[in-house]
Amino acid sequence: MRDRLTDRAASPGRAGPSREPVQRPRPQRDGHGRYPTIDIPVTRLTDLGGTAGQVALTFDDGPEPRWTTEVLDVLDQTGTPATFFVLGSKIRGYEQTLTRMVRQGCAVEVHGWEHIRMTEQTDRERLRDMHRTADLIREVTGHAPTCLRPPEGRVSAAILDEIRLVGLTPVFWSLHANDWTRPGTAAIEQAIVHGLTGGSVVLLHDGGGDRSQTVAALPTIINAIRYCGFDAVTLPPAPASG
Ligand SMILES: [Zn+2]
Repeated sequence: MRDRLTDRAASPGRAGPSREPVQRPRPQRDGHGRYPTIDIPVTRLTDLGGTAGQVALTFDDGPEPRWTTEVLDVLDQTGTPATFFVLGSKIRGYEQTLTRMVRQGCAVEVHGWEHIRMTEQTDRERLRDMHRTADLIREVTGHAPTCLRPPEGRVSAAILDEIRLVGLTPVFWSLHANDWTRPGTAAIEQAIVHGLTGGSVVLLHDGGGDRSQTVAALPTIINAIRYCGFDAVTLPPAPASG
């Protein structure tokens, strides 16, 4: 995995082997010692080695005792894999929820220790939180996480480099439904169903508040994925074969 990450980091964009390496100026910190935030990048499955025939459902901010369980129930009933970006500080006491995710074929990845924007942390705090969350996920599930989704998608170019140096792939999303604002089950369904395309990385939430609308919208979203003929996959997707 580290080799793959190193390869990706070493060959950004379409630069061929004969090109000079691109020198990116290191961003200057502001008066508070923070790096400037860049626009939230988009991640599609094809950015991660997946295909346009695949779709990834992802859930942030758990584990939460009620909503994560209800999301897992729907995923179980429909045989759908998904990826959970969890908060390390919420794992203790809910270890069995994480082992259930893995048992159901879901991936457990890093969101953060607490829900703090990485752009508002010191270098030391970011490193500590990435390591302790990844270590706890590995301890509980037996699988080392490979991806990190920064809270609110807030990063700088330097923070993206830091995440990769820890051995994690920064992952954002390509489609969401504002489900964290609880716009209503129908609004969540419509936003995802209408926006769904091959390669979509769909952002939903199983934590951070009442997620009953997200849970209620999930069967329709999964039906739409099936109806369109897409394969639901976890992150990072298995490399396309053939
Ligand atoms: Zn979040």
